[in-house]
Amino acid sequence: MTLKERGGAGRFRPAKRSLGQNFLTDPNIARKIVDALDIRPGDNVLEIGPGRGALTRHILDRQPGRLVLLEKDDDLAAALRALAPSIELVAGDAMEFPWRSIDPGDGWKIVGNLPYNIASPLIWDIVSLAAFSAAVFMVQLEVGQRLRAASGGKDYGALSVWVQSHARVELLFKVPPQVFQPQPKVTSAVMRFFLQPRPPEPNAAKALGSTLRLCFQQRRKQLATILKSKGIVDPEGLLLGLGIQPSQRPETLEPERFQALSNRLQNQFGS
Ligand code: SAM
Repeated sequence: MTLKERGGAGRFRPAKRSLGQNFLTDPNIARKIVDALDIRPGDNVLEIGPGRGALTRHILDRQPGRLVLLEKDDDLAAALRALAPSIELVAGDAMEFPWRSIDPGDGWKIVGNLPYNIASPLIWDIVSLAAFSAAVFMVQLEVGQRLRAASGGKDYGALSVWVQSHARVELLFKVPPQVFQPQPKVTSAVMRFFLQPRPPEPNAAKALGSTLRLCFQQRRKQLATILKSKGIVDPEGLLLGLGIQPSQRPETLEPERFQALSNRLQNQFGS
């Protein structure tokens, strides 16, 4: 039962396009998404953008410890609160949530059918700041392909390197537009993330972010040329020392090589 079913048809205001509201209407797909998170009784769960509660109901069925809902649309808050007295509702913007407060000791699992307009920057922040035990997000298929892209392809870019440096990424299944109301123009994909055992430390992550910005702003240029433009002395020697060919282009460099390169450049960027 979704909130709409509990409250009766017509209870909700129309979906807000500005908040990326495409509500999932297929309970089987909602269950499949929540199943992918493997919630055990007592696990703490944070849901981003619960909307009308399509996923929330299935989360509640699994008897989580704490269930925190993070929803920007105040109009949905009252109906969400009515779902279960134990729900903790945070009425706010996920882009401003203090992701560092997600404590590894508390075993948080994070889930959300994310608004398309913020999915990429939000996942960028979450994988690098929140110590979650598993996360499952529905995103636009095109974003999903970038998230899990391997080096060398057209989908591979800063988002792929950053996210894969912090987390193992899986594309679990695709979801067609017909199961949403209103229907989006694009196909969606359900992605799962587990943090890497040794993600970059904060300073190394900062350096990685700077290196990715530098390199992917000029993705068609050779790496030696890019480093030279930054005033690096002997870029060829620096790259060869890391096992990277000076003529390689950024999109051919695997995440581990980007991490090695950014560690090497760390001081020179002043980050
Ligand atoms: N989970 C629901 C479902 O599957 O039917 C709704 C998904 S809908 C694609 C995205 C939800 O995120 C909406 O409820 C929207 O109001 C909410 N939202 C949009 N921007 C947000 C933000 N910056 N922070 C938190 N929630 C946001």
